[in-house]
Formats: sequence, structure tokens, C-alpha cells
Amino acid sequence: MKLRNKCHIFFGITGITLILLTIIAYYLLFCEKEAIISFNNNPANAFLLTTLLLLVGAFLVTFLASKAFCKLTVNRIQELNQYLEAIASGKPMKLKEDNYKDEMSELRNTIVDAYQKMLRSRGELENNCQQLVETNQKLESRYIQAYNLQLIQEEISRELDIDKLSKKTADIIMGLFGSKRCLIYMADDENEKLIAKAFSGSMGKDAPNKVISYNARNIVARSWREKEIFTEKDAKPKELAELNKRNIHSLLIVPLIGRQGRVGIMLLEHELAGGINSESIKFARIVAQELSLSVENAYLYDKMRQIANQDALTGVYNRLYLMTYMEEIFVNNPKMVSVLIFDMDHFKHVNDKFGHLAGDMVLKTTASLIRKMLPAGIMARYGGEEFVIVLPEVGQEEAFQFADSIRQIVGHNQFFISKEKSIKVTISIGVATYPLVSSSYEGLLQLADKALYEAKNSGRNKVCVAETATSDS
Ligand code: GH3
Ligand code: MG
Ligand code: MG
Repeated sequence: MKLRNKCHIFFGITGITLILLTIIAYYLLFCEKEAIISFNNNPANAFLLTTLLLLVGAFLVTFLASKAFCKLTVNRIQELNQYLEAIASGKPMKLKEDNYKDEMSELRNTIVDAYQKMLRSRGELENNCQQLVETNQKLESRYIQAYNLQLIQEEISRELDIDKLSKKTADIIMGLFGSKRCLIYMADDENEKLIAKAFSGSMGKDAPNKVISYNARNIVARSWREKEIFTEKDAKPKELAELNKRNIHSLLIVPLIGRQGRVGIMLLEHELAGGINSESIKFARIVAQELSLSVENAYLYDKMRQIANQDALTGVYNRLYLMTYMEEIFVNNPKMVSVLIFDMDHFKHVNDKFGHLAGDMVLKTTASLIRKMLPAGIMARYGGEEFVIVLPEVGQEEAFQFADSIRQIVGHNQFFISKEKSIKVTISIGVATYPLVSSSYEGLLQLADKALYEAKNSGRNKVCVAETATSDS
């Protein structure tokens, strides 16, 4: 029943009861001659009693009506109010069961529904907020990573010296990961070994091997062979025990793979368990890519520099490098420098008789024989079948001895032009020593050439020394 109707009924009953009571009172006191209750026929007393009765009756009825009204409305409104207050203060309460089906129950249901919806929206909102916080954190860490990566790129992309490049990267990685140590191994394909080019962090007795064979059974070699990133999770039980003994609880091994293939491997050791997480792995992978490309570039640069400085046939330095080298030596005011120029004797004859290929082989073998004997300094092809040897800090006598020893070695060597046939060749050498005969490297070269000319003129297979200073000295 509607609350409005209930109120109408209650107050209707109250009104009717009051009227009935009034009628009964008047009937009893004034209308009957023999009143049931009379106060010695005193109308004043009768009136007082009537009024009292009326008041008590009215009071009782009103009291009961208000009780009922409160039960139906005020108490429920109060309960709802408490409920709303509890919601607002974040301490949800349970509403008592409500058996009435009136506007109050409708209001109550609407409020509870609204509250439930609000709770759900708040849950969703909190969820969204949490997601937002997580996204923000990710963004922040990505930003930091991107920034660090940029720093690394700037640091390493310009570096063309592989040792410095590896060291720089190892230091940066150490700083970023807070690990115990970082090692960068470079591949030595000729010997099938990984060699630690650089490291950062403590490298005490418990440090890993600095040379690891490609075929070794350890985790680093396995990661190298499989070209996969390995962590402590890929370690075998025995390896894990070994790592724990060394107080290493997280591990990251990243192969360095460039455009042309593997160039090395990066090893990161951490004392903390879980010190290397999935984010670190992703970041290390990117750094490894950068490093691989930079290492490849450095190798290429090194190769190009070698090619630019090298003679293609004999592998010794070329004339261009010789000049740069001499210039550098003379800039540093050396005490002594000896220069040897040697030329193959009757080489036209070798070419004419045995062919150019045989001639090439003789040139290559001669260069290789002498290169092995060099105590210091360099050997360069000066042109055709003429070579220059520069011996810094070597005096005239020592230079002469050296020149004579190479003359003999070449002269005694058998140059095989085929499996069965070998030939012999000789060389003539001119020697000049700074500062004895000249004060400049150009003058030294001229004088050594002049001495060579003398050796040729005095019968070949000889060493001649430039004895006197010329006008340039
Ligand atoms: P000499 O004893 O006076 O030096 O006589 P020579 O025949 O060696 O004369 P010269 O030094 O003038 O001759 C240089 C020859 O060396 C000419 C050229 O064909 C040859 N030659 C120069 N460079 C090369 C090369 O790269 N390969 C070959 N096979 N021969 C070369
Ligand atoms: Mg010659
Ligand atoms: Mg010549």
C-alpha cells in the first residue's frame, strides 16, 4: 500500500476516534439525566472531566498514530540516511530487510541500486586509474630506456676502436643494470675462441674465464652456438650451483649479431636474484644490436684502413703509409733512425724467363721472409720491386748488420716457381742513418737510394751505406 494512503488512513482513524470520544463524553456527562459519572451535578467538574478525557484520548491516539507513522517513515528514512552516511565514509552497511512495498521501499531500492552502480563504476575507475599508473610507469621506463639508448648510440656510434668501443659499452651497461660485472667478448674466428676484449666491475678470482672456446660446454659458449639470449634459467643445475657459489644469482648472456653474422657476446652477472627482468632483457637486446653494428663498423673501418695502407700483392705497407709513418717519427724528434732501400737484382730477367706470376711469387716470398725478421719499425713497398725498411732508434752499424743479414737470407732462399723447380734471387741494399747523413726523412730516403745505386753499380747482392752528409743535412 502507498505511504500516502497509509497516512490518510492513520490520520483518518485519529480524527474519527477523537470525534467518537467527544460524542461519548458529552453523552455521558450532559445528555443523560442520570449520568454514570457526575461530580455532584456540578457542570464545571463535568466539563473538566470531559476535557481531560478528550485530551488523554487525543494524546493516546496521536501517540499511537505517530508511533506507526515513525515506524513507517521516519525510522526508515533515518536508516537510509545512516546507510548513505556509511557509504559516503566508505564503510558500507547492510540495510535491514524491508517488507513494505511503498515509496520508501522504492526509494530504498533506488538508492541501493545507485550505490551498487556507483561501487561498480568506482571499481572500474580504480581499475582505469591503476592501468593509467602502470602505463605511465611503463612510459617513464621506456623514456628512460630510450634516453639511455640515445646516450649509448652517441657514445659508441662514433667510436671506431674496438677495444675502446667494448670498454665504453661495458661501462654503460654496468651503470645501467647495476650488475656485479659486465664482460664483452669478441669472436676470434681463426682460433674459434671468444676473447674478453673489455670488462667492467670487479674481476677477482671468481670472475669468469677471459677466453672461451666456441665448442666449450659452458652456458656462454652454448648461447654463442645457439645465437640465443640466455639467462640463469638456461643454466644446468651444476652451472647454477657454480654460479651460486660465486654469489651470482642473475645472469644475462646476449650474442652480438651484426649484418654479417656473430661478432661477439655480452655477459652480465648480477648478485641479486631477479636482478635482470624481462624489461632488462629487451633493453640489453637493443644495446647488443647497437653494439654489434658498431663493432662491425669498427672492423670494417679497420679493414679499410689496412687496405688503404697495405700493398695488395705483398701485404707490407704501401708508399703512402710509409710517408705518413716517417713524418710521424720525425715529428717526435727521434734520436736515430735508419732507412734501408732494397731492390731485386735483375728482376726483369726473372719475369722474362719464368713469367710474371713467378716474379710475383718471388716478391711476395721476399717480403714475407724479411717481415718476419724485422726487429721493430716497418717495411713498405716503395715501387715496383723496391722496398723500404724504416728502423727507428737503430744506428748505422746495427742497420748495416741487419741489411746484410736480410741480403743473405734472401740470397740463400730457394724460391719454388713450381713443385720441382726453384730459383735463386739476390737483392742490393742502400742504408742511410739519421742524423748522421741527413736531418730530414726525405733526405734520408734520397741518400739510401743513392747508396742502393752504388750497391748496384759495384756488382749487386751488396749493402752500401751512405757515409757522407750532403748539402741538405
Ligand atoms: P736491377 O738489378 O738493375 O734492378 O735490374 P732489374 O731487372 O731488376 O731492373 P729494374 O729494377 O729496373 O726492373 C724492375 C722490374 O721489375 C721491371 C718490372 O717488370 C718488374 N716488376 C715491377 N713490379 C712488378 C710486380 O709487381 N710483379 C712482377 N712480376 N714484376 C714486377
Ligand atoms: Mg731491380
Ligand atoms: Mg727496380
